[in-house]
Amino acid sequence: MPIVLFSDIDDTLIQTKAKCPEGAALEVGGFDKLGEPLSYITEQQRKLITQFERHEFIPVTGRNKSALDRVAIPFNSFKVVDHGAIVLNANDELVADWVAAIDELSQVWQPILEQFNAAINDYIKAHELSLRCHIISDFDFPCYISIKGEPEHLVRLKSFAEDFCSLGDNAREHVNGHNMALLPPYACKKKAVEFLQQHYLALEPGTLFIAAGDSSSDLPYMNECHFSIIPGTSQITQDKLI
Ligand SMILES: [Mg+2]
Repeated sequence: MPIVLFSDIDDTLIQTKAKCPEGAALEVGGFDKLGEPLSYITEQQRKLITQFERHEFIPVTGRNKSALDRVAIPFNSFKVVDHGAIVLNANDELVADWVAAIDELSQVWQPILEQFNAAINDYIKAHELSLRCHIISDFDFPCYISIKGEPEHLVRLKSFAEDFCSLGDNAREHVNGHNMALLPPYACKKKAVEFLQQHYLALEPGTLFIAAGDSSSDLPYMNECHFSIIPGTSQITQDKLI
């Protein structure tokens, strides 16, 4: 009976050195664009990854494909990237049925993403904020707006995020630490996971689905799985403690 693991990557399987426990034995888990080590895997994360690799192991990440390629973990099955906007098969090709599902919607949302991106960049410039904002496109699809920088500057964009979410139709905001994303309806980890679950259930109705993730925005897809794995220190567990 197959077991399928849907796992977030950053702050779940790897993280920057600053977020690793002091004195922990680490291995490199990911590289920056210049090929320098950027993220690390603890011994405990290595043990978890080794268990995951024995089954269908599917990354479900906000990273785009080229950023996923900089992660030092081999993925040999489907891949969910760009916060769920893009679903790839084991050969890194777009899954045709998924493209059919998002094609029209992404064309509708392209001008909206461009409008918000331009307005946010104007605001960042006018107020001299330490933020970088741009549209993440992948495989010729506009996937989402990414804003990175100081958390105290990110909160200054609250009204833009509210306006974006008020467009409805599952438009959402994701915020965790130094990252903010404004997500159109098709950039949805939950929808991508549900799509792949249908694939596995057609093959084997008894498939076991396990999810791993750290962000509150991971919870919707984790809730679609039979069991969830959450790091001891995470946005999800912090939210529960407050
Ligand atoms: Mg994460």
